[in-house]
Amino acid sequence: MPTIKAAVCHEFGSPLVIEDVQLAAPRTGEVEVTLDAVAICHSDISFAEGAWGGFLPAVYGHEAAGVISAVGDNVQGFAAGDSVVVTLIRSCGSCPSCAGGAPTLCETPYDAVNGPLKTADGAPLMQAMACGAFAERVVVDQRQIVKIPSEIAKDVAALISCGVITGVGAAVNAAKLRAGEDVVVIGAGGVGLNAIQGARIAGARRIVAVDLSEEKLEIAKEFGATHTVLGRLDAPWKASYKALGGRGADVVLVTVGAIPAYEQATRYLGIGGRMVMIGMPHSGAKASYEPVIMAAIGQGMIGSKMGDVVIQRDIPWMVDLYQQGRLKLDELISGRWKLEDINAAIADTKTGSARRNVILFDR
Ligand SMILES: [Zn+2]
Ligand SMILES: [Zn+2]
Repeated sequence: MPTIKAAVCHEFGSPLVIEDVQLAAPRTGEVEVTLDAVAICHSDISFAEGAWGGFLPAVYGHEAAGVISAVGDNVQGFAAGDSVVVTLIRSCGSCPSCAGGAPTLCETPYDAVNGPLKTADGAPLMQAMACGAFAERVVVDQRQIVKIPSEIAKDVAALISCGVITGVGAAVNAAKLRAGEDVVVIGAGGVGLNAIQGARIAGARRIVAVDLSEEKLEIAKEFGATHTVLGRLDAPWKASYKALGGRGADVVLVTVGAIPAYEQATRYLGIGGRMVMIGMPHSGAKASYEPVIMAAIGQGMIGSKMGDVVIQRDIPWMVDLYQQGRLKLDELISGRWKLEDINAAIADTKTGSARRNVILFDR
């Protein structure tokens, strides 16, 4: 089997190790993509810290873009040389969720431990999130990729495959925002900034960004926040009511995984409002609510995974909006790193000040 360089997690909480691993050729319906760029997402960090468990050793990384270098049997519409974004949304296409138009909720399990990756000496190596993109190449299903114009820089394109579709999709698909509605976005990190620009694109009337960092709130304004609230205030939702003319929001998008953020989120909601849950707390963490209020004033809670996207439908329009200057992507990148420096890039991401750090591969 050909070998590639990858950043491997051998022990939760320890630095990733750059080493040679084996990557199998694409099987039926799969393609091999030689990566140009992979961004570091907070989910990668949560996995590497053991927040959600899982098999080890593992290769994380799932926000990637590159060029197809090989195709398996029965691959339709893709050929070697195509520029693509690679997502973690491996969908079977035929289960009730997929057939019902919700591929992010695919019910067919994927055996990532027996995927295309093996260690250099042939032992099982988990292809985490069906991607394993902290590596020079990936082998993924054709349903996980979308073709993009070759002229779009791959570091920018990589961001689309997780943070952008998750945030923009949450506003457009999950919240089903109607033009003129008032929106609160809790968290102005990578996903939060995209939720803000998703709300702007969907025609929100007022967009209130809430974050613990004043610096991030300034960035939120660049992405379309019309008002900002410092989450460290006492009862910060009161500042939001004021911004929204004395009422709660029609939609609250929770883009961080912190439990206090989840517990406060309903305070920002107005009568008949809906809360969209995007941020992923650690397994076992619990938040509490007062159901009587939500029942009495008709509020709703909606879980949203990967922006409820259908990538073949949604990524092409996001690419168009980027090319028209209506979706900001370049501004989401805070740093560019080499694979060898991935642990430093992860440490920088963990400080919380970064937008997105992107690993660029040498060709
Ligand atoms: Zn992600
Ligand atoms: Zn499915």
